[in-house]
Amino acid sequence: MFSLPDLPYAYDALGKYISKDIMELHHLKHHQTYVDNLNKAIEQAPELSHKSVEELISHLDEVPESVRTIVRNHGGGHYNHSQFWLWMSPEGGHTPSGELADSLNAKYGSFQAFTDSFSKQALSVFGSGWAWLMPDLSIMTTPNQDSPLSMGKSSAILGLDVWEHAYYLDYKSSRADYVKAWWNVVNWPEVEKRFQTSKD
Ligand code: MN
Repeated sequence: MFSLPDLPYAYDALGKYISKDIMELHHLKHHQTYVDNLNKAIEQAPELSHKSVEELISHLDEVPESVRTIVRNHGGGHYNHSQFWLWMSPEGGHTPSGELADSLNAKYGSFQAFTDSFSKQALSVFGSGWAWLMPDLSIMTTPNQDSPLSMGKSSAILGLDVWEHAYYLDYKSSRADYVKAWWNVVNWPEVEKRFQTSKD
């Protein structure tokens, strides 16, 4: 059985940029729903019960058709959100350092040019979805709860949830204001760790 991971910080810890109300709703309601529906799908297909969520979503073709869409959407939701909480921190923001900083500068010209490019892609997602930074520092987007992993690629090193549920309470329909604020909570040490791990 899958379970909701604890947030690594208090619900109000990102309050200046992402309110306690949003964090509670997003974690306790939305993420919990993904976990609950994934568990219901596993009950219907118990042969999947030994698999991790990463295994499930990276091999959706091996998931029985009767539960494939549920696993894709809710397994994807569980996987994406489990990482999303870690990609934010009350000590976040600033800029990356070390090799990641150098590599982003080499690829985009400057950190600002990188964040502009990522933000532009995040704003271009039609409807609900995610924007991702890949280990090769390319940027991609996916609809709904798909992810690079579920699209047959490697895991992203950073991701941004641009579903309306992630920002509506604070920013109404202004995704641009939410994306701008989100840069202030990005947990760069976590991104740097994933960037290094991706090279091993
Ligand atoms: Mn979400």
